[in-house]
Amino acid sequence: MVGCSGSGPGPTSPASSYLVEHDGFRVLLDLGNGAFGTLQALADPATVDALYLSHLHADHCLDVAPFIVWHRYSGRSRRRPVPLYAPAGADRRLAAAYYGDGAPLEDVFDFAVLTGAPFDLGPFQVQTVRTAHPVECHAVRLTAGGRSLVYTGDTGASTAVVELARSADVLLAEAAHPDVPGLPPDLHLTGREAGEHAAAAGVGRLLLTHVPAWVDRTAQLASARAVFATAELVEPGATYDV
Ligand SMILES: [Zn+2]
Repeated sequence: MVGCSGSGPGPTSPASSYLVEHDGFRVLLDLGNGAFGTLQALADPATVDALYLSHLHADHCLDVAPFIVWHRYSGRSRRRPVPLYAPAGADRRLAAAYYGDGAPLEDVFDFAVLTGAPFDLGPFQVQTVRTAHPVECHAVRLTAGGRSLVYTGDTGASTAVVELARSADVLLAEAAHPDVPGLPPDLHLTGREAGEHAAAAGVGRLLLTHVPAWVDRTAQLASARAVFATAELVEPGATYDV
C-alpha cells in the first residue's frame, strides 16, 4: 500500500497507489499525489516494471510528474521506456501535467491504451472493465500463480465490477462515500456498497481503500462489515499476500 488516501493525499497517506508483485515483476496501480515520495521508501523506482493508471483524475495519476523527473535526471532509471497502461489521452494529459507545452514523454513511457481487451503483463493475466465514474475509469483483475487480485479504481455501484471480481482471492475496493442520503450516483462506493460488491462477487478477502481524510474510517469499516464480516481497512505501507 503505497498510498490509500481517497480523493487526495491525507495527513498519514499519499493518494492512491498500490505496488503489486509476483515472481519479481512489479506493476504499480495508480500514482496519485504524494505517492512517488513514499514509493521510494518501499521500493527502488527502477524496479517498477509497468504502470497502470485506472483513470486520469488527479488523485490517481499526478505523481507521474515526479516519476518523469526521476526517470530522466536521477541517473538511476533503466534508461528505457516503462510500459504505461491508461485510458486514451493519457499521453497528452500527462505531458501537459508535467510541462506546459505538453512535450512528448515517449522517452519515459511506452503508452498502451486500455480498451477492455484482456492482455498479458509480465506474469499477470490482466482483465479490465469500465467502472461507473464521471471519467473513463477501468477496474482491473490481475491473475498470476492461480491467484487473483481485483482493484476497483473509482466506481459507483457496478454489476460489471462485481462480475470482474467474481471469486477473486482479494478485492481492493474503494469506499469513499459515507453512508448518508442524497449521494450522487456513478461516483464512489459507500462502505456498505463495497461490502455488498464483495459478497455478491464471492471474493475471499475485502480490503477497503480510498477513504478521504475527511471521512470517518471506522464508520466505513463498520458499514462494510455489516454485509461482509471480515472486511479490513488497508494501512499505508502495509503488505498483503494475495
Ligand atoms: Zn476518480
